[in-house]
Amino acid sequence: MYVDKMMSLKIETDVTILGAGPSGACAALSLLNNSTLNITLVEQSDFSQQRVGEHVSDSLFNFLDFLNIEPESLGEGCFIPTYGSTAYWGSNRPGFRNSVFTTQESTYQLNRELFDLGLIETAVERGARVLPRTHCLATNQLPDGTWQLILSHPHQGEFEIHSRFIVDATGRKASITRGIGGLSDKTDDLMGVGRFFQLAKGHKKTQEYIIESCEHGWWYGALLPNHTYVVTFYSDVDIIAKLRLNQQEGWNKLLSESKHIKHCVNNCKVTAPHPWSRPAFSQITMADNVNNFLAIGDAACAFDPISSMGIGFAFSSACHGANAIIAQLNPNNSDPKSNQAIKQYNLDLKSQFDNYRLLKQKFYQQELRWPQAPFWQRRAFNSSDVEELALDNSMT
Ligand SMILES: Cc1cc2nc3c(=O)[nH]c(=O)nc-3n(C[C@H](O)[C@H](O)[C@H](O)COP(=O)(O)OP(=O)(O)OC[C@H]3O[C@@H](n4cnc5c(N)ncnc54)[C@H](O)[C@@H]3O)c2cc1C
Repeated sequence: MYVDKMMSLKIETDVTILGAGPSGACAALSLLNNSTLNITLVEQSDFSQQRVGEHVSDSLFNFLDFLNIEPESLGEGCFIPTYGSTAYWGSNRPGFRNSVFTTQESTYQLNRELFDLGLIETAVERGARVLPRTHCLATNQLPDGTWQLILSHPHQGEFEIHSRFIVDATGRKASITRGIGGLSDKTDDLMGVGRFFQLAKGHKKTQEYIIESCEHGWWYGALLPNHTYVVTFYSDVDIIAKLRLNQQEGWNKLLSESKHIKHCVNNCKVTAPHPWSRPAFSQITMADNVNNFLAIGDAACAFDPISSMGIGFAFSSACHGANAIIAQLNPNNSDPKSNQAIKQYNLDLKSQFDNYRLLKQKFYQQELRWPQAPFWQRRAFNSSDVEELALDNSMT
């Protein structure tokens, strides 16, 4: 049920998931499918904001299968196959993107609106309580380890949830984890600034995505559903500010200086006057000393979009996190305070993120054309990386 009318409310629930993006929805579905726990999803938005990030590998279908969701049920055109990729990375010659991040070959572009809303609708059908437009004002852990959350809704005012377990699925901000004293390790300051284009009638539609690096960062372009094409430039926040890439003049100028990607949107109209921007930094955030709590998706580990790992990780961390929660809250668990499954979950995240960091470095270090440019210098080898990589290689 969607709850948009808060009575003089104190909700009792087993698990509260804060954030109803892909990871939050997936955790709710996994918990509902595999336990009798009562689930509440708290989402601060009204679901109308434009979501970005759409390139996924076909391993996503395994997760949908695990969750008992038919891909077709998410709507016609939710997934469009990508028939290849061209990367101008490391040289001006076209190449396939070096698949350092995945061994999967088939990839898809998602319609994020259909996808995200379809997951939420399914969670509601299966019994989740969803509270949209609801802000979390305070999270207090009570002496018995359970949680009191103070929430606020624009029409209904403040109300309270009492929950046995809470999950942070708030995305890159990881606001719940930080609020309870968790720490983040942010490895860069990447930001994406992009524009959507409406493809003109008769425009050649190429169902492949393209990547092109340049002195200040890299471009990504891909066909999306509904005859839309997205072009995004990725660079560090200070470089974006210096070159005014969040304004149309700066962004358009840099696009016009590209060699390849500008041709993908020849004569196409932009759908909004100004570029949008989104943080895209890599980060791990953890509060692994707090009981009855875990983080999933971007709130736990946020990846560089070059890896296309975000949505797959949102699903894998949500499914594994849900298993750990079920183990922790199992009435047969003789010591409910023992959180072995949660500890193991957090250890697995740390090791995944360490591996990802090395893969990301290897990928960026294939581009050697602008050794003096700050964007690439910040991603160049230093001696400790070399030692770490050598150690890594000697172990494989
Ligand atoms: C520019 C860009 C391009 C990307 N491209 C790709 C790609 O091609 N492929 C890929 O796999 N991944 C990509 N990603 C990453 C992908 O979008 C994310 O990994 C994925 O959305 C993470 O899902 P999530 O549910 O963890 O977080 P989110 O999708 O960020 O969802 C978080 C939800 O929590 C809500 N929320 C936030 N704070 C609160 C709060 N305090 N209380 C309640 N609700 C809250 C938000 O409104 C939102 O609905 C990209 C990311 C960016 C920024």
